[in-house]
Amino acid sequence: MKHFDAIIIGTGQAGPSLAARFAGAGKTVAIIERNKFGGTCVNTGCIPTKTLVASAYAIHVARRGAEYGFATGDVRVDIKRVKARKDAVSGRSNKGVEDWLRGTKNCTVIQGHARFQSTNTVVVNDEVLQAGQIFINVGGRASVPDMPGVHEVPFLTNSSMMDIDFLPEHLIVVGGSYVGLEFAQMYRRFGSQVTIVEMGPRLIGREDEDISQAVREILEAEGIQIRLNAKCISLAKRDSGVVVRMDCNDDPKEVAGTHVLLAVGRVPNTSDLGLDRAGIATDRRGYITVDDQLQTNVPGIWALGDCNGRGAFTHTSYNDYEIVADNLFNADHRRVSDRIQAYALYIDPPLGRCGMTDAEIRTSGRRALVAKYPMVRVSRAYEKGETQGFIKICVDAETEQILGAAILGIGGDEVIHVLLDVMYAKAPYTVIQRAMHIHPTVAEYLPTILAKLEPFV
Ligand SMILES: Cc1cc2nc3c(=O)[nH]c(=O)nc-3n(C[C@H](O)[C@H](O)[C@H](O)COP(=O)(O)OP(=O)(O)OC[C@H]3O[C@@H](n4cnc5c(N)ncnc54)[C@H](O)[C@@H]3O)c2cc1C
Repeated sequence: MKHFDAIIIGTGQAGPSLAARFAGAGKTVAIIERNKFGGTCVNTGCIPTKTLVASAYAIHVARRGAEYGFATGDVRVDIKRVKARKDAVSGRSNKGVEDWLRGTKNCTVIQGHARFQSTNTVVVNDEVLQAGQIFINVGGRASVPDMPGVHEVPFLTNSSMMDIDFLPEHLIVVGGSYVGLEFAQMYRRFGSQVTIVEMGPRLIGREDEDISQAVREILEAEGIQIRLNAKCISLAKRDSGVVVRMDCNDDPKEVAGTHVLLAVGRVPNTSDLGLDRAGIATDRRGYITVDDQLQTNVPGIWALGDCNGRGAFTHTSYNDYEIVADNLFNADHRRVSDRIQAYALYIDPPLGRCGMTDAEIRTSGRRALVAKYPMVRVSRAYEKGETQGFIKICVDAETEQILGAAILGIGGDEVIHVLLDVMYAKAPYTVIQRAMHIHPTVAEYLPTILAKLEPFV
């Protein structure tokens, strides 16, 4: 049996930094990875998809050359080169994580599948490792629901999408949420015919209705077909392609395509971890139950990142690392509940989001104010010829603090941080109105928009 001060399972967005923190404090740490170093974000999530989104954006702008005063002739997409660029960017990060860990003194890197044997031992490659503190950072994977026909067709997921170096003639994306929409728009821009099939009555159903509607219009304007209210979805082979059947109100009740991508949610990688041997509790969906400082029900074992169900983003996983590390090393009692919800959807234009949604504000019963402003009236957007979307900010009528905001539009993923930081400062929105912002930017409009607050209904 090998003894360490700490064992970390998984090299996602929390594990490597935590390993470095332990090692830097002179403690021995073992970090175990069964697949690719860097996990989802680096290999099959944020980094490769945002690299592909960048190619899709460049292609899209090139096609609009006449609007900007240049001609390219026919824009021809070389999907193999698009993939090669993605592989290079993603590969660089993957190598960076591995080299970093292997080069860290006091850190032992083990490749293999880890399973708990007891509350303080883990087995990997038939070797038993023991530590007083164990951290689980195993992430999640694409959910493959048990819909009829799913095992009869060669479906794609966000992971297998990373390997394709050809252009699907007609890609059907099952799932109209964050992952599905990013793939839908990029493949449309690469040249595929794309249909989104969504069970719910609108796209990105967790978002406000006006956002869902605006996103739908953006995607439809690019020629993406959208089928909503698609109940009882089933898959079947047809000729060399696939047909997705649905029982909807609208006809036709099926869509035939060449390839199908399942983007219908994520599941945690916890079923093959031997959690029962350590007595670690999960919820009914398999997410590891943690307290506000990310400790499981078993003393000495923590769960960080997507597998604890408290976040589903790279930044929430990294923030989990910061919370755990500050609690353990700095006696700084940080808590997950101090975190303000924030994320982006990387279609073009992007959606930057922070704080509460409209529905959450309504449920809270607070008296709120709201201001909404179309991007077409933002001069920076107009100058750049990218005027889709809007900015919406909600504030608490009593405290004057920002409750939530959405920026669907050019730079939305960056500009949202102006509002987010003011929220963390617990400052009233009026501080933004006293700040001098740079012209011409999207952010310079925030004071103007906040001057238009009216009752939220
Ligand atoms: C297509 C897509 C796009 C995304 N885009 C964004 C984005 O733009 N921005 C954003 O913030 N988030 C994005 N996300 C979400 C983001 O990728 C995840 O939230 C983030 O990677 C979660 O990291 P994690 O630390 O929980 O674990 P992961 O990154 O999932 O890593 C877990 C690691 O643990 C390993 N592992 C699992 N089980 C074991 C075991 N038993 N033994 C050893 N190793 C094991 C896995 O192999 C994996 O390497 C995206 C996700 C997807 C799917």
